[in-house]
Amino acid sequence: MIKLHDLYFKPFISEKEIDTAVQRMVDEVANDIKDDIPVFVGVLNGSFMFVSDFVKKYPKPCEVTFIKLASYEGVKSTEDIERLIGLTQDLTGRTVVILEDIIDTGNTLEEVHRIFKNEKVKELKIATLFHKSEAYKKDFKLHYIGIDVPNKFIVGYGLDYDGLGRDLPEVYQLKTTQHMTNFV
Ligand code: 5GP
Repeated sequence: MIKLHDLYFKPFISEKEIDTAVQRMVDEVANDIKDDIPVFVGVLNGSFMFVSDFVKKYPKPCEVTFIKLASYEGVKSTEDIERLIGLTQDLTGRTVVILEDIIDTGNTLEEVHRIFKNEKVKELKIATLFHKSEAYKKDFKLHYIGIDVPNKFIVGYGLDYDGLGRDLPEVYQLKTTQHMTNFV
């Protein structure tokens, strides 16, 4: 068990399980994309570790860029998505794969779709390492999903709690106590 700020977290997904999921996703994407040189667009901050491991495993030439969005306050998702850094390159005609750390309610993904609405990309695919399918409220198709997780707050492998935990190579789940179950 670990403590970050005021909260306790228990081990939940091992490095090995993450590695296996990332490799499977890479294989699926590489198999679908065939000859195009894709542009992988990581959604910062949480995706940095996933993007790094993903592109290291990707077996063919690719480009990598990032956008930066923020939605979480503490352990709760909010509907106000701040666009901190948008697209900085022209993606006309390109095959684009969004790399998300986690898709929860889908609000952030909706903002991603808004960003790409006027881009004339050849194809836009969505890949997320973690997915809270119970919490997902949108209709956008998720093309590649690593690991489906329950609707509970997790940290590690890029995901933080108030700035802490992003550096952890594995994933931890919030340890709920009786009085906390109302809000997680
Ligand atoms: P959504 O907009 O889909 O509700 O949430 C997406 C964003 O919220 C993610 O990119 C991530 O930054 C954050 N998020 C969602 N669930 C969790 C979680 O369980 N733990 C952490 N640390 N961040 C989360």
